[in-house]
Amino acid sequence: MSHLFYQSRLARPELDRAEGIYMWDTSGKRYLDGSSGAMVSNIGHSNPAVLAAMRAQMEKSTFGYRLHFQTEASEALAAKTAELSPPGLSKVFFVSGGSEAVESTIKLARQYALAKGEAQRFKVISRMPSYHGATLGALAVTGYAPMSAPFDPMLMRMPKIPAPRAYLDGLDIDDVATGHHYADMLEQKIRDEGPETVLAFIVEPVGGASTGALVPPAGYMSRIREICDRYGVLLIHDEVMSGGGRTGKFWGAEHWQVVPDIICISKGFGGGYVPLGAMIAREDIVEAVLDMGGFVHGHTYAGNPLACAAGLAVLDEVERQGMIGNADRMGARLKSRLEALMQRFPFIGDVRGKGLLLAFELVSDRDSMAPLPKDLNAHARLVDLAYDRGLIIYSRRTRGGLEGDHFLVCPPMIVGEDGIDEIIEGLGAALEDFAGEAGL
Ligand code: PLP
Repeated sequence: MSHLFYQSRLARPELDRAEGIYMWDTSGKRYLDGSSGAMVSNIGHSNPAVLAAMRAQMEKSTFGYRLHFQTEASEALAAKTAELSPPGLSKVFFVSGGSEAVESTIKLARQYALAKGEAQRFKVISRMPSYHGATLGALAVTGYAPMSAPFDPMLMRMPKIPAPRAYLDGLDIDDVATGHHYADMLEQKIRDEGPETVLAFIVEPVGGASTGALVPPAGYMSRIREICDRYGVLLIHDEVMSGGGRTGKFWGAEHWQVVPDIICISKGFGGGYVPLGAMIAREDIVEAVLDMGGFVHGHTYAGNPLACAAGLAVLDEVERQGMIGNADRMGARLKSRLEALMQRFPFIGDVRGKGLLLAFELVSDRDSMAPLPKDLNAHARLVDLAYDRGLIIYSRRTRGGLEGDHFLVCPPMIVGEDGIDEIIEGLGAALEDFAGEAGL
């Protein structure tokens, strides 16, 4: 009997070791990590340079409390992160995960408003669906009822606008009018709430697990930026999943050349080697908050040297191995192969994403985009069938916040053509198995 518990009683084999894009359980069975865990192991498993950097740091020190010491590792990672960030965003605050990173962005935004004498600004608008984290503050801006419902009475009621689900609304994603249509909902919401009360808008530039790699329509991101500027609302990009290179650019928002006021990143930033995340903010925002007496926030493990040494080595490997370019090339290959699966399986309703942040969803009818019957339990069944065949994919029981099933296919950024072939072969076989048992 295990003394450990997570969300549910799901029993999985014991992990023995992992290398590159593969993982082995203790029975010797091999799995292709087709989702990089939870879109985390971006540079693959057991990268020797990262392990060496961690060992070297461990020989020196594994912890130095930030109020007692500065460390070379945290200074170096902060400098590197700032160098990779858009111009003006040069201040870096370390945390140990995505939810902590999101909490930090909200608190920094609030303290900045106080510093400007705008104490009435406290509302953070977000999208439905969205995922920004599991802690109560991050959950309040998360638009994903299955995660937030039990805690509703305890959560601050933060306003939400619909995410741009053009594919479900029958709108053309390449048409700027579509982007403006959804972005203008933000302006309406700001006006409804009272602009003087709105602090920030938080958005995943390329959606993660809640939307299934939702890509914004043309014109959306820049219009959002304009609207935020018009009303003095801070723009926060949640790049916890999309940051770090997976989309084919270091920041997901680079695809639309939009610069936010504050960004957060985690997941691939520590690459699965250590729990690590960061908030990167405009220098003047941070300076204003520090001038007012300091940022009233922080976590014990923030900036610990072991995590930062690992994070720095991850970024170095991303650069040295040209992984962002590879994510772009292999992402295009994987996406077209997933699209080809749509010919074989009429119950694949949509394939979308950027680079190696890709998703597909299952429907009972592609024209109406009606979901599969709930009792088929597709989101869990297909994952299990793929798992049996040695392929790991990631799923959620939702389609753009509605009933349905979507799946993320996001292998490490080091995947090559053979790996893509293997993913498609395993997935094709699992879909075949699923079609057989579901009678599709
Ligand atoms: N923000 C986004 C976009 C995410 O995808 C996630 C996790 O999936 C989080 C925040 C929360 O991160 P964590 O699970 O590390 O707390």
